[in-house]
Amino acid sequence: MQGKVIMKNKSVNNKSIVYFTEIKKDSNKSLIERLAIMIDRSKLFKNIKSHDRVAIKTHFGERGGHAYIRTPFIGKIVSKVKEYGGIPFVTDANTLYSHKRHNAIDHLETAAINGFTPETVGAPIIIADGLIGKDHEVFKINGNHFKEIYIASTIFHSDFIIVATHFTGHPLGGFGGSIKNLAMGCASIKGKFLQHSEYLPKVKEGLCNLCGVCIENCGYNAIKKGKNSIYFIAENCVGCGECVSVCKYGAISPKYPNEGKKLQEKMVEYTMGIKKQKKEKIIYINFLIDISPGCDCCSFSNAPIVHDLGVLLSDDPVAVDKASVDLINDAPYSPLWSTVDKFNDQDKFRAIYQDIDWNWQLNYGQQMGIGNKEYKIVKV
Ligand code: SF4
Ligand code: SF4
Repeated sequence: MQGKVIMKNKSVNNKSIVYFTEIKKDSNKSLIERLAIMIDRSKLFKNIKSHDRVAIKTHFGERGGHAYIRTPFIGKIVSKVKEYGGIPFVTDANTLYSHKRHNAIDHLETAAINGFTPETVGAPIIIADGLIGKDHEVFKINGNHFKEIYIASTIFHSDFIIVATHFTGHPLGGFGGSIKNLAMGCASIKGKFLQHSEYLPKVKEGLCNLCGVCIENCGYNAIKKGKNSIYFIAENCVGCGECVSVCKYGAISPKYPNEGKKLQEKMVEYTMGIKKQKKEKIIYINFLIDISPGCDCCSFSNAPIVHDLGVLLSDDPVAVDKASVDLINDAPYSPLWSTVDKFNDQDKFRAIYQDIDWNWQLNYGQQMGIGNKEYKIVKV
């Protein structure tokens, strides 16, 4: 039906609604079943029209990592989309950094190794920006940084997006949530590059033991071995952040002017553009499970910061990310983290990524009208 009005979550006292099904000690229903109940209770899937092609945008995990969304959760979203009349497919776009998801062949192979196949999720798996990450459509926006954005073509041509996000810490934005999954995750490689372009890594000499892992993982020949530590060739660096992710010794950190605010603003503008292109037909589901300090692009998964908390759902990306941060900051550190002095800070994301003001993606998001930092949790 053309021109159907999108059903929005009613706001309560100008607060966006965020549904939350939490991990319990004593539930006799699985979290997967409770995700399905939450989907029904929210009524947001009623916005899916018959035969809508629904992109379930997730992250298949990098080769070697283990902390990504488990396939039965994605399978449940797939079955719910079918129940509401949509035609689902599961998707992600290729990475800027050159590890094992940089082209569609490696990406699909990695997805299969990590358990994501059409059989396990119940729907086709499509790499959204094609064989080498160049398939995109250009969409005009009126942002402060961008007047046009590059949306992976499969996402662009879908009718509806469900953003299924594994919520984690992130070296570039402090945390990686729905905003990042939609903005960075739905951009082609060119779009990702343009969002990252403010980034420059820096090395802490005393922490670098010259193991060479960052050099092996940099696809742009931008890192060399020096006498006491590695050093960067600035003109070769594309700002992909891979070296920060792979250094297990914390020797590389992002060097951003202004606490990473510009990159966060760029992500917000991509989110704003994709929301507009999709005419608001987007639902956000954050999984607060295996909450690792680094994102799913790492080829390893470190100990979770806090215990598993549950799953959140909303039609507001700012509200669902803010609620996720608050739940994590309110939870106690998991035992492996609580013994480390520098992690005794209440703001866990700022404690881990001290140079990054994660709050800015939420503030700028609210300022640009993509969502509301004020939210009301509805427990399911
Ligand atoms: S991965 Fe870390 S420790 Fe190893 S060479 Fe690179 S900066 Fe140094
Ligand atoms: S040096 Fe630059 S291009 Fe190489 S991995 Fe690090 S951020 Fe990416």
